[in-house]
Amino acid sequence: MNDAMHTTMSAAMNSANNDASKKPGKIMLVGIGPGSNEHMTARARAAIAEADTIIGYVTYIRLVTDLIEGKEIIKKSMTEELDRAIEAYERAKQGKKVALVSSGDAGVYGMAGPTFEVLFQAGWTPDSDIEVEIVPGASALNTCAALVGAPLTHDFCAISLSDLLTPWPVIARRLNAAADADFVVALYNPKSGRRTRQIQEARRLFLAHRRPDTPVAIVKSAYRPKQRIEFTTLDKMTECDIGMLSTVLIGNSSTFVRDGLMVTPRGYASKYDVENGGTHAGEQAGRSLSTGLNGWLETIRSSGKTAGELAVQYGLPASYIAATLAAEILDETPEADQENDSENAAGASA
Ligand code: SAH
Repeated sequence: MNDAMHTTMSAAMNSANNDASKKPGKIMLVGIGPGSNEHMTARARAAIAEADTIIGYVTYIRLVTDLIEGKEIIKKSMTEELDRAIEAYERAKQGKKVALVSSGDAGVYGMAGPTFEVLFQAGWTPDSDIEVEIVPGASALNTCAALVGAPLTHDFCAISLSDLLTPWPVIARRLNAAADADFVVALYNPKSGRRTRQIQEARRLFLAHRRPDTPVAIVKSAYRPKQRIEFTTLDKMTECDIGMLSTVLIGNSSTFVRDGLMVTPRGYASKYDVENGGTHAGEQAGRSLSTGLNGWLETIRSSGKTAGELAVQYGLPASYIAATLAAEILDETPEADQENDSENAAGASA
């Protein structure tokens, strides 16, 4: 937090303290989902109905106009997040119930973080007079995924391409790590009028690890009147229409598109015969894969290779491999065996 912010906050907090009333206020961080009434939760609706004051971006407030008649409305623009959090705190100090409205989920690139920063800065604690409720909403990655099939059925991550508050090397490092580790990736804030190059850089980083024909889905304005869905590939994705209201879903190395549906396999095919439901040789239903942790430990132990060689082979830190090999030897002492047995028994009854 920089000094300017600190000063603004302290000033706001002092003024809020001055008119402290005994009536406890409340701050509700409300995620309203993608922007359609059907996909807003009942609690989000009730929280907005319960609030005296609604604070949020103009676009999102417009989405809930039917719910906010007669309430105090504070519209803010994109660059005023901390101001909004301070404003919410001031109102709550006056005994008001304030709904801070975010699209999607308020905790995903939303107002929840900045609000807690402001509150902690002001000396707020969870057991103070002002209650804070976070109302979860369906985030863009959930809603965009639902529109294109089942792209997130295996490990995935979200990365925002916005460099307004995050240095580019940090973003690039995360893109590179996610691409290297074969995560399905949801790119938030992929492009705006001024930020057009970030998505090209993301493509370049991904192409260093993934095939050019890796499936990509671009969903714009999910569940809103101007909704638009486009299927493309990693190689061609920057030729598509991408904007502020788009989320870009990049598949992993097994993601495929069939009949207009983007699907990431859950992994069943590596264990079961998908046709007849039987398990492949060497695999057991309900047990870790033969290449799971224990199977892999056997493999590396009997490989005769050094930790350094194994580190290169598996793309893992040599220190981790060395520690794991050492721990495995320790586990074989009789006392450790006993502990393992009781752990197994607990695991089995759980
Ligand atoms: N809190 C929001 C994210 C805010 S960041 C959430 O949980 O979804 C803003 C970014 O979210 C946009 O740039 C876009 O990438 C994504 N986004 C939000 N609403 C969307 C929608 N209806 N359709 C597609 N992407 C959306």
